[in-house]
Amino acid sequence: MNLDFSAQESAFRAECRSWLEANVPKESLPSGDTREGYALHLEWERKLFDAGWSCVSWPKAYGGREASLYEWLIFEEEYYRVRAPSRVTQNGIFLLAPTIFEFGTEAQKQRILKPMARGDLSIAQAWSEPNSGSDLASLRSTAKRVDGGWLLTGQKTWSTRGAFSDMAYGLFRTDPSKSRHHGLTYCLFPLTGEGVTVRGVDRLDGDEGFAELFLEDLFVPDENVIGEVNKGWEVAMATTSSERGLSLRSPGRFMATATRLIDLYRRYRETCDPALRDQVIDAWMGAEAYRWYTFKSVTDMLTGKPIGAESSLNKVFWSEMDVRTHETALSILGQAQCLDEGSADAADEGAWIKGFQFALAGPIYAGTNEIQRNIAAQRVLGLPRG
Ligand SMILES: Cc1cc2nc3c(=O)[nH]c(=O)nc-3n(C[C@H](O)[C@H](O)[C@H](O)COP(=O)(O)OP(=O)(O)OC[C@H]3O[C@@H](n4cnc5c(N)ncnc54)[C@H](O)[C@@H]3O)c2cc1C
Repeated sequence: MNLDFSAQESAFRAECRSWLEANVPKESLPSGDTREGYALHLEWERKLFDAGWSCVSWPKAYGGREASLYEWLIFEEEYYRVRAPSRVTQNGIFLLAPTIFEFGTEAQKQRILKPMARGDLSIAQAWSEPNSGSDLASLRSTAKRVDGGWLLTGQKTWSTRGAFSDMAYGLFRTDPSKSRHHGLTYCLFPLTGEGVTVRGVDRLDGDEGFAELFLEDLFVPDENVIGEVNKGWEVAMATTSSERGLSLRSPGRFMATATRLIDLYRRYRETCDPALRDQVIDAWMGAEAYRWYTFKSVTDMLTGKPIGAESSLNKVFWSEMDVRTHETALSILGQAQCLDEGSADAADEGAWIKGFQFALAGPIYAGTNEIQRNIAAQRVLGLPRG
């Protein structure tokens, strides 16, 4: 097995490294989960797009540069290494876009992909409903057929950055005679105008990261339906497989965190418990293991073996690793861990406590880890349902 990068891949790394080092904002942007920070992040996304770095693996026709998936992973490593701003468009470019590539019409690709990659059209995810989180198939929002389109009615919740986005995608019951996974349709809908009310929800850290969406006879035209009417579950599963599999959380993110953890340990080694050294090494090894596992997944995909239910194991691995890594950082910091971004004395501008709070959500979003373990038990290990 040859684990070396090719000359082309190394040249690609050098090119994106040099662009990122020259262009990443010197000061970190305010949180992308605040209105002000979101707008600044979108400006950054435009700059990325205009230089051809927004969605490197997409076809050129839709704003990409036709890089290979290996090159995309390299880009991500470089992106996180220089602490470039988080991608506030991620639920569109990393989750919806692969679904549109697979199920969308050519007209939808033309209409949606480029504006989304440039940050001109931001699209949130709207799966969850007040009583349908883990059990998404119990959702109750409906779409009623009318001339030229559909009238959407219902309530969606926990929509990340839904308070700032232009549109959202979600599932709606289009055939009332069917239940659970059947008779559902995958629709894109606007978040402004008649028939929709968006209410921002503050997170634990105070950022307005979520929104509740209330829809009442909101009209969407037929061109906003992705995939076949009444076959929305199949389309949605493509989106969740991107979320748990390759695209939402690339290894570069965790490698960069592990590298910063090592740096933190070096700075605090005189004052912190020496036993933490082993946890720091474990964090680094976990990130490296995830990196090589992901390269293998890409190789499998390119040789015709899709990720499938194993993406659930992937999701459990990165989310729990992220919690452990941040817990180790907080232990290294001791009492100083409480200082947040508002304090001049906070280590690394309070990034560890903020990162820890967000890491705690990892085992919940993208399908809780309990559910992922159920999926892995049944579909990967072939165990009977409990
Ligand atoms: C940071 C963050 C971002 C999010 N972003 C979005 C978004 O953009 N769009 C969106 O639609 N949603 C989003 N969500 C919502 C997320 O998808 C749900 O929180 C998740 O699916 C769980 O649903 P729930 O909160 O209703 O919990 P529930 O489904 O009520 O689960 C409660 C607990 O019971 C456990 N449980 C439930 N069923 C079983 C079972 N069969 N076996 C074992 N244990 C079980 C769960 O694991 C969990 O621990 C986000 C959540 C977070 C934390």
